[in-house]
Amino acid sequence: MDIKTILNEIKSELPQTTQLVAVSKFHPAEAIKEAYYAGQRIFGESKVQELENKHTVLPKDIEWHFIGHLQTNKVKYIAPYISMIHAVDSYKLLDEINKQAAKSNRIIPCLLEIHIAQEETKYGFTPDECTEMLNEGKWKDLKNISISGIMGMATNTDDEAMIEKEFIKLETYFKELKSTIFKEYESFKELSMGMSEDYHLAIRHGSTFVRIGSKIFGIRNY
Ligand SMILES: *Cc1c(COP(=O)(O)O)cnc(C)c1O
Repeated sequence: MDIKTILNEIKSELPQTTQLVAVSKFHPAEAIKEAYYAGQRIFGESKVQELENKHTVLPKDIEWHFIGHLQTNKVKYIAPYISMIHAVDSYKLLDEINKQAAKSNRIIPCLLEIHIAQEETKYGFTPDECTEMLNEGKWKDLKNISISGIMGMATNTDDEAMIEKEFIKLETYFKELKSTIFKEYESFKELSMGMSEDYHLAIRHGSTFVRIGSKIFGIRNY
């Protein structure tokens, strides 16, 4: 199937409240153009240099979402144009994004990455660590970022019950934050979860951004 057909198929499955981030990492600009001409505007990348190259050559109305682990020393490169940063996993990173966003006179929407998977290697706050950071309150002084929600990745497994349990954990924590710390913040509304293999489950648990790569663009070579 071609990219356009797959995109249309995925979009027909998404509720109105769920947006598609087409994860184009490791795929060439040509593949992105194909998706772009099929109407897709939100693309997800996970490496700064690769994103820089693509941002330079591709249409300016693309909304780039950074979905990977972001190093503080690289924030400055993408701050002038990035539409959303999905995987903020420390206060230090949030602070740096704020500084760089200020230089561009922008407010950058950020999602806090919450560790829900079994794998030890994945980044992110535990819910307790995240609540602690938020309760400290320093983030409230950061005027050039907005905390728009949370993001997470389920364990890479065939065990659907396990994946579902992890998504429920994220959904529950999202609702908790929304009704407490972020009660007065309308901009806190995004729950980024679900990838090629598990997005149907994620949608059932309230995902507002699914991040889908290989299902659209095929196997990545890396
Ligand atoms: C690569 C990646 C995806 C997309 O994964 P697929 O299985 O190809 O859909 C989604 N989210 C993050 C954070 C990723 O790094």
